[in-house]
Amino acid sequence: MKSDLPPLIGMSFEQMVQLCHDAGAKPVHAERIVASLFRYYNSDISAIPELPNILRSYLAEHTSMFEPECTALQQAEDGTRKLLLKMPDGREVETVLIQGPGRLTQCISTQVGCAVGCTFCLTATAGLTRNLSAAEMAAQVIAGQKIGDFKVRNLVLMGMGEPLHNYDEVAKFVRIASDPKGMAFSPNRITLSTSGMVPAIYRMIEDKLPCNLAVSLNATTDEVRDRVIPINRKYPIHTLLEAVRAYIKARGNKRVLIEYVMLAGVNDTVEDAYRLCELVNGMGCTVNLLPFNAFEGSPFQSPDDAALSAFREILVAANIIAVVRSSRGNEISAACGQLKTEVAQRRKSAA
Ligand code: SF4
Repeated sequence: MKSDLPPLIGMSFEQMVQLCHDAGAKPVHAERIVASLFRYYNSDISAIPELPNILRSYLAEHTSMFEPECTALQQAEDGTRKLLLKMPDGREVETVLIQGPGRLTQCISTQVGCAVGCTFCLTATAGLTRNLSAAEMAAQVIAGQKIGDFKVRNLVLMGMGEPLHNYDEVAKFVRIASDPKGMAFSPNRITLSTSGMVPAIYRMIEDKLPCNLAVSLNATTDEVRDRVIPINRKYPIHTLLEAVRAYIKARGNKRVLIEYVMLAGVNDTVEDAYRLCELVNGMGCTVNLLPFNAFEGSPFQSPDDAALSAFREILVAANIIAVVRSSRGNEISAACGQLKTEVAQRRKSAA
């Protein structure tokens, strides 16, 4: 692969049309390129069918193609699959395929590592290595789609990294993914999850980024949130929820997802549940309650079922849609960053 050339899978349809134009070929060939890349998951320019030679040579000279190598794959009994993908520079990221009835939801990573430092997250422990490009995000979808038994219908940007710390490449990827002439996902089936990058939420509003918004709240007081998501010291809860309300208003009352990772004895009390009701009162959101996915060395525990149900019932009684999302793929390295860490440890002990 010529790594200094722009990857074809990170290009918009308009850029592909421009390539055809620059090569002296008809713009209609852009549709063939898209179909080959995103419908048939082709990762070789020479294998794209029915292209004039002049365009094929131009693409080979001016663009690159790559396919990440799958260096580890785990499959859980419920069908959840976790892949570790090696990018062209040797850096590895995780992507997860979650099986639903006749469809897949894929969790995409947006960075190698993460700089946010959430204290309940394994990915945070290694810090940030680098941002992923839009092409590297698209390549995760193609890799997932290639091994999946069903079509990937939903994309969630909830893997390794804080998507809004890598705004430009994430926005580029979301536009490619949602473009009917690109990957053709419905914007309603793409969800971007943030730990609370307030200025970037306003940017999403301004840019009309075609996707849903999910916010990782995970606490009902600034004192606790400062501890579990350090970015809260910069953008405290009221500032964050103000931005979320602005987003909902600007998007014509579009529902947002409030994610709440439940940590036993930290944020799962009855008082927390009542405070959460007040915080999201009248907001038009769905609350996802996620029991913490424990990993070795973590200072937190997952709450028991009774605490989970009591918490949820308080929300439901306040007319808030609240869903307990049970961990998928529990017996595999399901926590974000866990597979990568385990593989690294195995390699170290084998060396
Ligand atoms: S939870 Fe998300 S934002 Fe927080 S450290 Fe982990 S990857 Fe980063």
